[in-house]
Amino acid sequence: MEKYDIVIIGGGVSGLSCAITLGSAGSKLDVASDKRILVIDAGQSHLNKAEINNVAGIAEGTKGPELLDVMSKQAKSYQNVTLLSGTVVSVAGTKGDFTVTTESDDTFQADTVVFANGMQTIDVKGIDDLVADHIRAPRPGMVMIRNDNGKIGDGKYVTGCAAGASSMFATAAGYGAQTATDIISTWTGKYTVIHDVLKKD
Ligand SMILES: Cc1cc2nc3c(=O)[nH]c(=O)nc-3n(C[C@H](O)[C@H](O)[C@H](O)COP(=O)(O)OP(=O)(O)OC[C@H]3O[C@@H](n4cnc5c(N)ncnc54)[C@H](O)[C@@H]3O)c2cc1C
Repeated sequence: MEKYDIVIIGGGVSGLSCAITLGSAGSKLDVASDKRILVIDAGQSHLNKAEINNVAGIAEGTKGPELLDVMSKQAKSYQNVTLLSGTVVSVAGTKGDFTVTTESDDTFQADTVVFANGMQTIDVKGIDDLVADHIRAPRPGMVMIRNDNGKIGDGKYVTGCAAGASSMFATAAGYGAQTATDIISTWTGKYTVIHDVLKKD
């Protein structure tokens, strides 16, 4: 069974944002340099249906699928990030030794898991008890995973709309980055953000 430090379930906005922030830590922190990150995505991001006209910093009229493509390429540009197409059906185990299984029966071992599965139906064994109506999208079929400030257990995180964020690109992307910094901070032992600083001419 292939082993990863982090498996992210869902490669939409929040999952990719989380992977990009984690990937960016690899070249900046010794403690992060050998961490391997796997994103497993079923390909149903809500962003696929969107045209973006109201996201700070993103050109008006940007098509959602194009933006997803840019984010996927950005995540893959980090050598420690791997993207895989698939649907996760179960998560079992405990921190340091989770087993993530896909519908095609592939299994992956992970120290940490991040649920970034959006607000659509959540059908993953291991979190069934935590699924609830979405607090910021009170519509039929919109669900979230109940959590405590983004955590659902030791080594288990939830991010983006799955964590109860509003259905906005910036909110989901921001939550993904925050989840990544929370995880990085467990590696460093103090709250750590990954910044690049403008070089002086
Ligand atoms: C029609 C429409 C228009 C929109 N327009 C705008 C807009 O103009 N401005 C704006 O800011 N926002 C807009 N949004 C909202 C934006 O798309 C969402 O806020 C954002 O996509 C949420 O990100 P997320 O990561 O939480 O979920 P998503 O991006 O939906 O990603 C979740 C991913 O997890 C995957 N997944 C789920 N279960 C599993 C599983 N078991 N295994 C593996 N993968 C799984 C899904 O397939 C999906 O790819 C729009 C949304 C819609 C639907």
